Amino acid sequence: LTKHFPLYGPFGKLGGIKQNVQAVQDVSLRLYEGETYGLVGESGSGKSTTGRTILGLTEATSGEVLYEGKDLTKWSKKEMRKLRKDLQMVFQDPYSSLNPRKKVGQILEEPLKIHGWANKQQRQERALEILELVGLQAEHYFRYPHEFSGGQRQRLGIARAIIMNPKVVICDEPVSALDVSIQSQVLNILKTLQKDMKLTMLFITHDISVVRYISNRIGLMYLGRIVEEAPTDDLFEEPLHPYTKALFSAVPDGTKKERIVLKGEIPSPLQPPSGCVFHTRCPFAIERCQKEVPAFREIRKDHRVACHLVEEEELDWFN
Ligand code: SF4
Ligand code: MG
Repeated sequence: LTKHFPLYGPFGKLGGIKQNVQAVQDVSLRLYEGETYGLVGESGSGKSTTGRTILGLTEATSGEVLYEGKDLTKWSKKEMRKLRKDLQMVFQDPYSSLNPRKKVGQILEEPLKIHGWANKQQRQERALEILELVGLQAEHYFRYPHEFSGGQRQRLGIARAIIMNPKVVICDEPVSALDVSIQSQVLNILKTLQKDMKLTMLFITHDISVVRYISNRIGLMYLGRIVEEAPTDDLFEEPLHPYTKALFSAVPDGTKKERIVLKGEIPSPLQPPSGCVFHTRCPFAIERCQKEVPAFREIRKDHRVACHLVEEEELDWFN
C-alpha cells in the first residue's frame, strides 16, 4: 500500500503539484482473524495514514486492501458505507467524532438505524447493552457528550465502534489523549472486548509499552515503511532492526542493555532518504545502505526485517 499526498504551490491545483508527501510507502501487512496487530512508530511515520487508507477514509495512491478476497480500494463509497458495519475505527479524540447536539442514546442508535434496525425498543436495548460492555451506566443514555470525562468519551467512541458487531476495528491512538491513570482502564476494555467479540484489531500507537501490552504481533514503522515485524514476545526478546533496537534501548526495563542514541531528527517525508530510509540516522550504516532499499525479508519464523545487515549469518556480529 502506498499513499502520497500532493502538496500544491501558491496557485493551488491550477499551479500543479509541487511536491509529494510520501506518507506511506510499500507497506504490506496481514491481519489475521481474531488477532491484535500493533502498528507502532513515532509521529509522522505513517501509521494513521495506513489505518485510514485501509478503511478507505483516504484514497490509496497504489496497492490493494484485500478483505475477504475483495480489493476494498476498488469499492465505491456506497459499497464501502455498507461495509462500515464490518470495519470500524476508534479515533484518538472521540469528542470530535461525537455529535455534541445528540444524546448518547441517539449517537449509539444511529448506526443501528442506518443498517436497518427498525424497532426502537430493540435499538435501545442494544445501546444499553453496549453501554454496560464499555463500563458506562444506563443513566448515561440520556446525557450529552460534553457531560463526560475524557475516559468516558473514549468509552463512548468504543461503544459506537462496536455496536454493529464489527469484524475489524482499527484503533488510532485511542488512549494517547488520556491521563495515564485512565489509559489502562480503556486498554483493558479494548482487550476484553477484542477477546469476547473475537474482534480483529489493528492498534495504532506511538507508545511502546502500550503496543506491547495490547498486541499479539507488532509492525514498526519508520518514515512511511514497516521496517520490522514480529510476534510481540519475539520482537522484545530479540529486536533485529537498528531502529527497533534504538527505540527499545531508550525504555528502561531493569536490564543493563546498552543505550543506542540516534543522531538527528526523522527526515521529511517530502524527501525521504534514498536506499534505506533509516540510513541517515543508523549507527551501523554501510555504503550499500544509501543506494539500495533493503528487502523486507523473513529472517525467523514470522519475523521480518528490512535491513541489509540482518541476515542469518551476520546476526552474531550484529548482536
Ligand atoms: Fe542501518 Fe543499513 Fe540496516 Fe538501514 S539497511 S537499518 S542503514 S544497516
Ligand atoms: Mg497519527
